[in-house]
Amino acid sequence: MLRWIRAARSRPRHDDAGPRPGALTPCSRANARDRWSFALSRERMIMNDHRRLGRELGIFDTDPLIGSGLPYWLPAGAALRKAVEDYVHELERRNGYRHVNSPVLGKRELYERSGHWAHYAEDMFPPMNVGGEEFVLRPSLCPHHAIVYRSHQRSHRDLPLRLAELGGMYRSEPSGVLGGLSRVRAIQLNDGHVFCPPEHAAAEVSAALDLIGQAHARLGVGAVRYRLSLRGEGGKYVDDPAMWARSEALLREVLAGRGQDYDEEPGEGAFYGPKIDIQITDPAGRESTLSTVQVDLYQPARFDLTYVSPEGPRRPVMVHRSVVGGLERLAAHLIEVHAGAFPAWLAPVQAVVLPLSDAELPAAAELLRRCLAAGLRAELAPADRGSLGARIRAHRLVPYQLVVGPREAAAGGASVRLRDGGQAGDVPVERLAAEARPFVG
Ligand SMILES: [Zn+2]
Repeated sequence: MLRWIRAARSRPRHDDAGPRPGALTPCSRANARDRWSFALSRERMIMNDHRRLGRELGIFDTDPLIGSGLPYWLPAGAALRKAVEDYVHELERRNGYRHVNSPVLGKRELYERSGHWAHYAEDMFPPMNVGGEEFVLRPSLCPHHAIVYRSHQRSHRDLPLRLAELGGMYRSEPSGVLGGLSRVRAIQLNDGHVFCPPEHAAAEVSAALDLIGQAHARLGVGAVRYRLSLRGEGGKYVDDPAMWARSEALLREVLAGRGQDYDEEPGEGAFYGPKIDIQITDPAGRESTLSTVQVDLYQPARFDLTYVSPEGPRRPVMVHRSVVGGLERLAAHLIEVHAGAFPAWLAPVQAVVLPLSDAELPAAAELLRRCLAAGLRAELAPADRGSLGARIRAHRLVPYQLVVGPREAAAGGASVRLRDGGQAGDVPVERLAAEARPFVG
């Protein structure tokens, strides 16, 4: 690995070095104490607010004609989102998940069967009547995955069956609580369900927590605490005390076995079971759940899921897990944590080609073509857009700035300048592309 890139990667992340308000002006030399005091100030809250940065960086926007809580992704946001999607898909593939795709709506009867209709209807959009049948925008992917499970007869040899999907789901949130990307009505959820024998459920929960930790480290997510979310009072929760006792004991056992600190919170569980929620905060200190692992002994019974075992038919446990949560909330967090200076593998534009003058334009265009062919998200900023200094400032968040002068043009290369002002010299674009991938090897 290139030494200069290793040095850049070893820079402390936001979550262990404190907030990075200076990241928008990478040349600033504020010391750590200044940064901490700044972190406490209102300016930081405004500076890093993902709604302001998201618009400034061309990541997302909203329009009253589309509606509240229905943001759309602009090109830079779509590039960022695709990088996350590809990374998570690959992480899951390497960890034994099989990906499926299912529709974003289903018949009302599906949600009556899953229990959503009885316990969760107030968070769902009202049904649409089509030809005498009622369809509902799905409030979760679980029922579809239960149907995928039962589409084939399963044997104990097939388990664990780990299904994953990046799919749309919808919540009928009141307009007063909606904001930017962090609270929306249409969610692209990184979801997954592991169907396994009861005696393997603890190990699957623990493996899901490992996966979450791995993804958080790679993305730079700064989790603030683990929460064991339990059932509360009232009819929102399935009334089966023995079932809740079993699933809560299982989650407690996993957390204790991992030596993981956590807070218990009654009234935050899913209607069908308890959850381990991994909490994040925004610059204003508001907390929300990003990743979650849940144990469900309810829906397998509702859908009569079984598998064949030497002892006869048995009921699997369903472990629900989301490694990075909804992509909207994740993007809001990443925008705020990195203040727009995303790691190279996530950056919407990874490389910008900067010819010194018009004379180097043909060589720069050829270099751009090679960057794109190597897999980099790259663009060209020709000399008619201003002085080299002005163009570098305009692209200050781009990790690799490839300056092409007469010497570089003649050699078919570029002088690579890093986002923090460091010089890397003449580095082949193929090596830059290799360094800008989320997985090494
Ligand atoms: Zn689920």
